[in-house]
Amino acid sequence: MREHTKISLYSLNSLSAMDDKKRKRRNICSRMLDQWRYFKFCLRSLTYNSFNDRWMAFDTCMEPLFWLVGVVSKYMGPLMVVLVILLTSVVISVFYLCILPRCLENEDHVQTIFHLTFGHWLLVNIAFHYYKGVTTPPGYPPQIVSETGVASICKKCIAPKPPRTHHCSICNKCILKMDHHCPWVNNCIGHYNHRYFMLFCIYMWIGTLYVCISAWPLFRQEFFDPKKTFDSLMAGSLFLTFLHSYQASLKNSTSLQSGYVSSLTTAESTYHKAIVFQFIICFSVLIALGLLTFWHARLVSRGETSIEKYTNDSERARLKKVNVVYKSPYNFGVLENWRKLFGLYGGRTFWRHVLLPSSHGPEHDGTQWNAQITPGFLPKSLP
Ligand SMILES: [Zn+2]
Ligand SMILES: [Zn+2]
Repeated sequence: MREHTKISLYSLNSLSAMDDKKRKRRNICSRMLDQWRYFKFCLRSLTYNSFNDRWMAFDTCMEPLFWLVGVVSKYMGPLMVVLVILLTSVVISVFYLCILPRCLENEDHVQTIFHLTFGHWLLVNIAFHYYKGVTTPPGYPPQIVSETGVASICKKCIAPKPPRTHHCSICNKCILKMDHHCPWVNNCIGHYNHRYFMLFCIYMWIGTLYVCISAWPLFRQEFFDPKKTFDSLMAGSLFLTFLHSYQASLKNSTSLQSGYVSSLTTAESTYHKAIVFQFIICFSVLIALGLLTFWHARLVSRGETSIEKYTNDSERARLKKVNVVYKSPYNFGVLENWRKLFGLYGGRTFWRHVLLPSSHGPEHDGTQWNAQITPGFLPKSLP
């Protein structure tokens, strides 16, 4: 009997010890779970912001990549400007030396006057608008912004942002009506230099089209002549010259030939290369710049910037589901949008202030914008 009681007591003790272990394990698990919940709560409380959304999280994750792009653009910017100036200078020189004399060869005075006036009008406009696009600051928000002019707070500058203002990570500044950071002008395109940028693109595109049309007869004559193209290539290729010398030396080891003997003189070969280079470079720019200019012209016509396009597109898609046609709040109609961009107010005219160089500023300081709300617009519900 005593033995039996001893066994039962032992088994009871062992059972309670097992329960204790389980309880302890459960306590540890629940404590760890509590700690995890507490950590998550702390993290969320530290990073909570009513503007937080998945784009904000994406932006934060992409921060190192943006930083890298920013650094590269910052140091590549001046080189890109030098490249644009160099290429434009080469194209202008070839045009003056090779193409214009051929255009003026005929006795047609109307053609001569056209080439001299139209060509120089384009040249002046391209040079002026590029210079102004590079040197004109895009516009920065003032230190003190009136309450009505504040749309949000910049998380980088910790400063109020007027409507349409965005932070440029390359310039590390907030830019009024920011469109984009352009490496070709090493500047941000914003409220004060958007007009110069657009006009530079338009004039440059017309310029490349004009050069392509003027150079086409010469290009056809030079490029589609197989003898000239081959001779010019051979004369210019060090590798082919070396290969030819080597082959010649194998045939007659006692006398080394100097290389391929071109039928073209040095002047003819240089002329050939200049015409081919001129046409190819202008044609490439014509296509690439044409697409870029068309894209920006479409944005201007719709009253939105490159940055606003993305937010407007998502709003457009969201409201389409409830049969509401969304319109950019800054879209005042195609003509009015272009008039605003060109700053044609107070007696300014298209003939004087768009077709000829003009350094007038925009209509207002870029801190206050009259937004138009789309009829039936449904604002997003707050998170
Ligand atoms: Zn900022
Ligand atoms: Zn910038």
